[in-house]
Amino acid sequence: MSRRPGSTLASTGEVLQLIRTGEAATRADIGRLTGLSRPAVQMRVAELLERNLIVEDTEGPSTGGRPPARLTFNAAAGVILVASLGASRTQIAVCDLAGAELARTDLEIDVERGPDIVLPLLMDLWDELLGDRPRSQVRGVGLGVPATVEFAAGRTESVRVMASWTGVVIPPLIEARFPVPVFVDNDVNVIAAGEYRTAYAGEVRDLLYVKVSTRIGAGVVAGGEILRGALGAAGEIGHIPVRDGGGVLCRCGNVDCVDSVASGTAILRDLRARGRDVSSLSDVVTLVRAGDAETMTVVRRAGRLLGEVIASAVNLLNPAVVVLGGDVAERFQPLVSGVREVVYRRSTALATRSLRIERSRLGPSAGITGCALMVIDHIMAPEVVDAASVPAHQAAQGPFQGLQVAGG
Ligand SMILES: [Zn+2]
Repeated sequence: MSRRPGSTLASTGEVLQLIRTGEAATRADIGRLTGLSRPAVQMRVAELLERNLIVEDTEGPSTGGRPPARLTFNAAAGVILVASLGASRTQIAVCDLAGAELARTDLEIDVERGPDIVLPLLMDLWDELLGDRPRSQVRGVGLGVPATVEFAAGRTESVRVMASWTGVVIPPLIEARFPVPVFVDNDVNVIAAGEYRTAYAGEVRDLLYVKVSTRIGAGVVAGGEILRGALGAAGEIGHIPVRDGGGVLCRCGNVDCVDSVASGTAILRDLRARGRDVSSLSDVVTLVRAGDAETMTVVRRAGRLLGEVIASAVNLLNPAVVVLGGDVAERFQPLVSGVREVVYRRSTALATRSLRIERSRLGPSAGITGCALMVIDHIMAPEVVDAASVPAHQAAQGPFQGLQVAGG
């Protein structure tokens, strides 16, 4: 049996990983990449075929003679349930095991109504989206919530701004109805990860994602990983104060937090204070499109105030790209211009030398994608796949029931 020096034999889960990532497409590829003998490769492939995690296609491109069977990951082997909760808008979806959306619905709900209202509603909507699909196909659940999350426990920690969600341990509430592993992270972390891995994979390793919506939050990708901080509160950019905010009292109790002067909520409030009849961001969009000077001034000022805080973050983190997402950033070019203007002026020359400031490429899908990837990373991890292959009598809990939450 051939082995690479210093390596242990590749497990079934590791072989699946090679197939999922596209590194290996045939048994010969697996043998070459792992150093496993032909019988050992055959055994692992047979197990993956039996577990329906891969499929075999013999109609590959003919190179003379019988083409080698192509092995591909079977993304249809199960589904995952995901929800990206925002302060006022939530995206809910059922995805396949590759993270592709199979069904989706969007919901307008004030997340402050609390977990007792919001979570049962989410679960009802997942049930609807699942339709006739057997519930046994559900392999995992992923949630992004607009609160600080102690990732390993799936517990929300935010005390100041989400009173109704403080200290809630979310996974057991979901597992009571969907007995599968449940993963919870901060909403902007999830969105940042979705944007980073889908739109910027292989392009950059350091990215700052700023969500400008009803509220303002950020997710930091540093060296290819989400930066969480000691308590999971990294990226709380919304409650950093600006210099000339005008003395606005923030809902956190401090004054002139960027959230209170540059969010969608703040833009609406400032326009109303100027006597403008605006009830939603759509009204503001209409005014911006019409080139209304007063609206442009308000939106651009919000951008400049936000730029002040982002400039400091850029100095501290030196990202390759700042991605501006959320419905306010995605719809208001003057806001993006305001951010750019201040960041390039205020950040150090070195930090901005090759810095790009861009609008989100994924848009509202980033949260769904990020939630799906969070779940897939865990349930398809080689050690989890391997643990599930022990004989049934040794795994009384079943492959997907034993694991509750895993740390990031
Ligand atoms: Zn604040």
